[in-house]
Amino acid sequence: MRTIDIIVKKRNGEELNKQEIDFLIDGFVREEIPDYQMAAFLMSVYFLGMSFAETALLTRLMMDSGEKFDLSGIKAMKVDKHSTGGVGDKVSLILAPLVASAGIPVPMVSGRGLGHTGGTLDKLESIPGFCTNLKEEDFIRQVKKIGTAIIGQTDNFVPADKKLYALRDVTGTVDSIPLISASIVSKKVASGTDGFVFDVKTGTGAFMPTQEKAKELARCLIGVVRELGKKAIALITDMNQPLGEAVGNSLEVIECISVLKEEITVPDLKEICLELGARMLVLGEKESSIEKAKNTLEQKLHSGEALEKFRQMVEAQGGDSGIIDKPLLCDVSPKNSLFKAPQKGYIAAYNTREIGNASMILGAGRLTYDDPIDYGVGLLVHKKIGDFVEKGKPLFTLYYREDKSLEQAEKRLASAIKISGEKINPQKLIKEEIR
Ligand code: URA
Repeated sequence: MRTIDIIVKKRNGEELNKQEIDFLIDGFVREEIPDYQMAAFLMSVYFLGMSFAETALLTRLMMDSGEKFDLSGIKAMKVDKHSTGGVGDKVSLILAPLVASAGIPVPMVSGRGLGHTGGTLDKLESIPGFCTNLKEEDFIRQVKKIGTAIIGQTDNFVPADKKLYALRDVTGTVDSIPLISASIVSKKVASGTDGFVFDVKTGTGAFMPTQEKAKELARCLIGVVRELGKKAIALITDMNQPLGEAVGNSLEVIECISVLKEEITVPDLKEICLELGARMLVLGEKESSIEKAKNTLEQKLHSGEALEKFRQMVEAQGGDSGIIDKPLLCDVSPKNSLFKAPQKGYIAAYNTREIGNASMILGAGRLTYDDPIDYGVGLLVHKKIGDFVEKGKPLFTLYYREDKSLEQAEKRLASAIKISGEKINPQKLIKEEIR
């Protein structure tokens, strides 16, 4: 078999078989197939797509390219959530302890932020001492003991995805539905979990700009998970504005703690946690209906059990749980500046990707995987779409270190807001459920 023949076959729109996909993935992981040939293959997939059968084969072969976690020692059904990524998406920090406090084990293998989107691991690592780098046995022990753990990938975990994602990132081939599905599902299923609730984001801050594309991705994700013998459902949710108020690592941790303590109300963040969490309880056969499951989760928040589970998780992973009582122990830059509304009116739209980019420019995110990040910078969003604002009143508070990055971030924000004289209806957060 020759790599060139497989590339040409795909380029001509033909379907690849198992031997051919295996040859490619195996050769690429062993570094026998060079990046330039793999890049040509990825670009063919980007333009011509893959059949469902090809996508499922690719996913399985990627999943089998390295170590997998064996969670069979945890007898209950284990359920995880995966978001396709957005701005201010700190849901996992609340959801994992919340769902675990309701009796469903939540073993999470999460990622880091890239570009305009944030990542759960970076947020957690902004808690002083928090370690996301657990060995498999420690990860399993913690899930058994307290019901949840959130860690990053180990070195030999789905190496095919690590290499392919790095190449996709520099060849303009990230936003391809079969490639995204294979990348996400190979890692999720390799983590040993039984059921998945996908939060597929759509809108100006999401990978999938339209609801139609988000649905297509959701269907592909669910289909591939089922093909691998696991359970999945998906919610299509809005990413036309940041989720909650905080964007940036420490700021988001502080917001999550306030929500878990019920000190503040962040309606969109709470709603999405309850909707996703309820589906995790139903998928895990803990509750028989979404409504009952939402009530259970409300009680777990109200009784402080979810907060207690968060505390246990932070302590188990070496973090300073003192931040729960004194959130300002988290590193937050003392320098902040208000971004004021240039005119009065209703917030009509946000370019959410640009808001994420503004936060990245302040230092909260990274352009490439190796970039360092600053946990203490970011921004707070004071108005939601549909809210009224007076000229000169604050739209954002920016936490920064250097005047130069503040100026650049302000420019991005100026181009990211649309204010209208006409009343605007608020956006629906949960757009659709895909089963
Ligand atoms: N997240 C992933 O893990 N992979 C993708 O391809 C896109 C988002």
